[in-house]
Amino acid sequence: MKSLQELVRPNIWRLKPYSSARDEYSGHEASVFLDANENPYNHPNNRYPDPLQLDLKKELSRVKQVPIENIFLGNGSDEAIDLTFRIFCEPRVDNVVAIDPTYGMYQVCADVNDIAYRKVLLNEHFQFSAEQMLEATDAHTKLMFLCSPNNPTGNNLNRGEIEKLLEHFEGIVVVDEAYIDFSDARSFLLDLPKYPNLIVLQTFSKAWGCAALRLGMAFASREIVSLFNKVKYPYNVNLLTQKQASEMIFRYYEVERWVKVLKEERKWLEKQIASLPDTVNVFPSDANFFLVRMTDAPAIYKYLVERGIIVRNRHSVSLCGNCLRITVGTRIENEQLLEALSQYSKV
Ligand SMILES: *Cc1c(COP(=O)(O)O)cnc(C)c1O
Repeated sequence: MKSLQELVRPNIWRLKPYSSARDEYSGHEASVFLDANENPYNHPNNRYPDPLQLDLKKELSRVKQVPIENIFLGNGSDEAIDLTFRIFCEPRVDNVVAIDPTYGMYQVCADVNDIAYRKVLLNEHFQFSAEQMLEATDAHTKLMFLCSPNNPTGNNLNRGEIEKLLEHFEGIVVVDEAYIDFSDARSFLLDLPKYPNLIVLQTFSKAWGCAALRLGMAFASREIVSLFNKVKYPYNVNLLTQKQASEMIFRYYEVERWVKVLKEERKWLEKQIASLPDTVNVFPSDANFFLVRMTDAPAIYKYLVERGIIVRNRHSVSLCGNCLRITVGTRIENEQLLEALSQYSKV
């Protein structure tokens, strides 16, 4: 890996962050707060929230077995993705390399920040080769984006290839683990101490059942986390989100139960869908959704919409011609989908 100073944009390296009232004073003994121009009435929403979300991070640290100083929390994973571009990539100079197909936000953030986005096509098993990814780099490649289990394909990426990138790429490797709770693969969280160039993304939006809260997690070296904290909005995670997330950690047994149910339900739904006449192929999944190739995905998508059932049409995505991406719902929802699909086949 290059030194962090070589990788970070010079203006960010030099940046003196905004210092909020709550940054300048932190400690729990004080009881009179006349420092932040807050309204003294309307407790508890009158006070600015903890900018570093330390109570929540303490609890998360226990669940994830990662020290607090290696955790960044943001307004969804999307904030962490955007900050990664803004910290490392000089507009119109630097570039990033990503697998294709994958989650659309990496390219959107690249475009917003005016960073060249280089795509490396996956093979027919939706796997990548570290060698091909490295061949796509040049001296200005700062980041690589991997997503495992991958969206929209649903499969785990090959662990050995990810390790090769972590060992041989000179820049930062982002591994998006939004769906890791549904996967039998080992998380890269445990490898953080080994790889100073690793950023692992996770989220409260999927297994945790908290998409509405907008809470994303980035795990990385203490130095990278400090950079995130320096560039983020001062109060990027609001009080209600911090409280609700803490409460969700308290009810973690629910998350575990949902994951178990959804994994079983996925297996069942995959089998049912595979047996329909208009199904060409169900791709193996390690997530709470799966990709299925149909005879005519755009037509079937439209037919389902007319019946009030929304799946994701991935027909125009690389390697996903005639594919629908189906999220696993409740048994009742899944049965409604199956019923509609079997009626389509009869018409
Ligand atoms: C859903 C998803 C996320 C979650 O994004 P949030 O902003 O945390 O809701 C992140 N990465 C991938 C690949 C996803 O599919």
